[in-house]
Amino acid sequence: MTSQLRIGQGYDVHAFTAGDHVTLGGEKIPHTHGILAHSDGDVLLHALCDALLGAAGLGDIGMHFPDTDPRWKGADSRAFLRHVRDLLKVSDYVIVNVDTTVICEAPRLGKYREAMRANIAADLGINITRVNIKATTSEKMGFIGRAEGLACQAIALIEHISG
Ligand code: MG
Repeated sequence: MTSQLRIGQGYDVHAFTAGDHVTLGGEKIPHTHGILAHSDGDVLLHALCDALLGAAGLGDIGMHFPDTDPRWKGADSRAFLRHVRDLLKVSDYVIVNVDTTVICEAPRLGKYREAMRANIAADLGINITRVNIKATTSEKMGFIGRAEGLACQAIALIEHISG
């Protein structure tokens, strides 16, 4: 039996638009703006999908869920994440851990963090201790600092078991 550890990273950004909430980590969070996106614009889950796909050598989220496809209009990004989990599973990968950093000036995410972790753990079928969510600001600099949008970085470690 051989085991191979593989790592992947993901990044996503979306602009704010008129609205009253953002969806992050599958949680609807009240905010002064909404997110401009074809799907629900969940940057956290999009970055995480890309990290997992990257680790498995399976391309990126745009290949699997093109934003030109009407099927994904307003899509729940948790369905993307569960689909990515299934892709990894059929390729004999198990998820070791995932770590994420949301970058925005607002909203504050602290009180939603545990619910977001729980959503991700449930969708990936892993223990919540294997999921981490961090949040930081851009110190008022650049497009994030001017509150024009928000971004997320993610990294995932997966293990391939064969033989
Ligand atoms: Mg996106």
